[in-house]
Amino acid sequence: MKNQAGSQPSQPAPRILSRAEHSLSRSMLSENAIKVLQRLNSSGYESYLVGGCVRDGLLGAHPKDFDVATNATPDQVKSLFRNAVIIGRRFRIVHVRFGREIIEVTTFRGTHDDEDDDHRSQRSAAGMLLRDNVWGSIDQDALRRDFTINALYYDVSDRSIHDWANGINDLEQQRVRLIGDPERRYREDPVRMLRAIRFAAKLGFDIEPRTAEPINELAPLLLSIPAARMFDEVLKLFLNGAALATYRALRERGVFAMLFPATFDAFSVLPWAERFVEQALINTDERVRQDKAVTPAFLYGALLWPGVVMDTIAAMHEGAPHAQAQQQASQQVISRQIQHTAIPKRFSFPMRDIWELQLRLPRRKGKRAEQTLTHPRFRAAFDFLLLREQAGEIAPGLGDWWEHYQTAEVSEREAMIREVSHSPRDAEEIPPMPTPPPPRRRRPRRRTPKA
Ligand code: ATP
Ligand code: MG
Repeated sequence: MKNQAGSQPSQPAPRILSRAEHSLSRSMLSENAIKVLQRLNSSGYESYLVGGCVRDGLLGAHPKDFDVATNATPDQVKSLFRNAVIIGRRFRIVHVRFGREIIEVTTFRGTHDDEDDDHRSQRSAAGMLLRDNVWGSIDQDALRRDFTINALYYDVSDRSIHDWANGINDLEQQRVRLIGDPERRYREDPVRMLRAIRFAAKLGFDIEPRTAEPINELAPLLLSIPAARMFDEVLKLFLNGAALATYRALRERGVFAMLFPATFDAFSVLPWAERFVEQALINTDERVRQDKAVTPAFLYGALLWPGVVMDTIAAMHEGAPHAQAQQQASQQVISRQIQHTAIPKRFSFPMRDIWELQLRLPRRKGKRAEQTLTHPRFRAAFDFLLLREQAGEIAPGLGDWWEHYQTAEVSEREAMIREVSHSPRDAEEIPPMPTPPPPRRRRPRRRTPKA
């Protein structure tokens, strides 16, 4: 007999929409995801597509990844597929790999009441779920998901959709609504606050009032989320094509200061800083729309830049030369930020290059321009310079010069260099002291979660 997860005697019934009653067409779905469902079903398990793929598919958008929910345990799933690996500890799931596509298979989660097995279920004193590996039935699984619109299950055998939490209605009403008591759900996992804001901004939905209400007050709970998870979540916030809308909602709900405290502090001192961040996000959205690459290094570089400038100015007024002041400031800003969101070295190194090149771009005499142009990060640094000009941090002009220089013939380049060599100042200016002087504000401090 199979030891299946959660075979409950009497389950509450979902609302079932037959194929004729919904708009999710099978052509929207990944062939590989369908294979996974069919293999699970023919082996005697229950399985469904769930989450973003059903939600986005119903909204007519092409899903970007596919999540499967099943009553087979991770070990049972793994034994059915050659290319399956079990990942995660806090939340064990199976990745079934087909070339570059990964289908994520998750076993139905149950409720944690009466669960005294630390190995499977763990909560912090503050009610945060530290481990969630209690298997359950589909109705329990549905109610443990975050939003009603994410708790729609697609059954490949008859192409029906099972709606356990009135998600179809919220989808029609364009509402992001947490399942269950909002405060409790945010305390279990504060990242749900970011997810509410992200889905609302991305889909153009409202956050239902009861779901929105606690966010302002509970936002500091985000300080206890491990920095590595926060890094991933922040990328999802700003790389989804709706970065500007997401950012504005984060500001409005008091969440941005928990993610980027130094940047938030800089807003009240540097008059261009808010425009700079907004412009960076406008450009990011535009690049996503055009299917151009957006690098986390550039994005983080922009989001952290106002703090770098603040600290640079402070160090210069303590007597450090510009370059040294900025280097010191970069170091400080990064080491403070990684307590909030990790920044893997593969992104922090190029990010620092982009910042450092801002010092080199104004210096063009002799061979300097030519050297700067061949730097592997030149293009990103040039885009960054344009952003600074657009936001009014620095006067326009240098961006045009470089725009022209890049495409100019050799003889013309030489003439351009001669011209800057005769101009009295080639960089090395002390930035004006912002008024009022940079305050040393208390920053939100991280709290380490207690088990
Ligand atoms: P997208 O992939 O477009 O970001 P998604 O809804 O598929 O959106 P995933 O992070 O892939 O999001 O998660 C898949 C599903 O798992 C969600 O739809 C939701 O049902 C559930 N889920 C994910 N994160 C949480 C969470 N923090 N709390 C509760 N349920 C969650
Ligand atoms: Mg998904």
